[in-house]
Amino acid sequence: MHVVILGAPGSGKGTQSAKMIEKYNLHHLSTGDMLRAEIEAGSELGLAAKSIMEQGNLVSDDIILGMVANKINALGSTAVLFDGFPRTVAQAEGLDKLLADLDQSVSHVIQLDVPFDEITERMLARGRADDSEDSIRNRLQVFSNQTAPLIDYYEAQDKLFKVDGLGSVDEIYQRVQEVLG
Ligand code: AMP
Repeated sequence: MHVVILGAPGSGKGTQSAKMIEKYNLHHLSTGDMLRAEIEAGSELGLAAKSIMEQGNLVSDDIILGMVANKINALGSTAVLFDGFPRTVAQAEGLDKLLADLDQSVSHVIQLDVPFDEITERMLARGRADDSEDSIRNRLQVFSNQTAPLIDYYEAQDKLFKVDGLGSVDEIYQRVQEVLG
């Protein structure tokens, strides 16, 4: 079982992911966390990613796919929860290819559905380094333009499960569990 959690920034992906990895024994692969770790470590990759992330733009597909490929190959057959990845159709295609080479595939895509005005409020409350109002606006725009097409991509593969992302953490998690069993 490999799960993708798909949703706009601030839709609650991280919170739901933390619950899912425990119950379903998944390895949490967050490309945002991996990039923040690179910045923290002061690596060349981190240096290149920092200003892109601060502006709320996407780090290049090549960099992201390279990072994910290393991780997937190191994990072997461990079931993975992909959080914040893929974010573009090219990344989704890249992931399909990486997994196919290992005779594996994505089993479920959970789409957390939250209205944008609710998201903006949540993100301003969260106060992360890249949570300025300009950056938030740009990230939602980037989501609509580049990531939302993944909804159709995974629907066409019959893997998409839309979950209402409004309500308490536990209410939303109930809905997630109905999908994953
Ligand atoms: P996140 O923690 O998932 O919200 O990611 C924070 C920032 O890291 C994003 O706004 C992007 O700049 C960058 N990022 C994270 N994951 C990806 C990805 N899969 N593709 C491109 N950029 C990413």
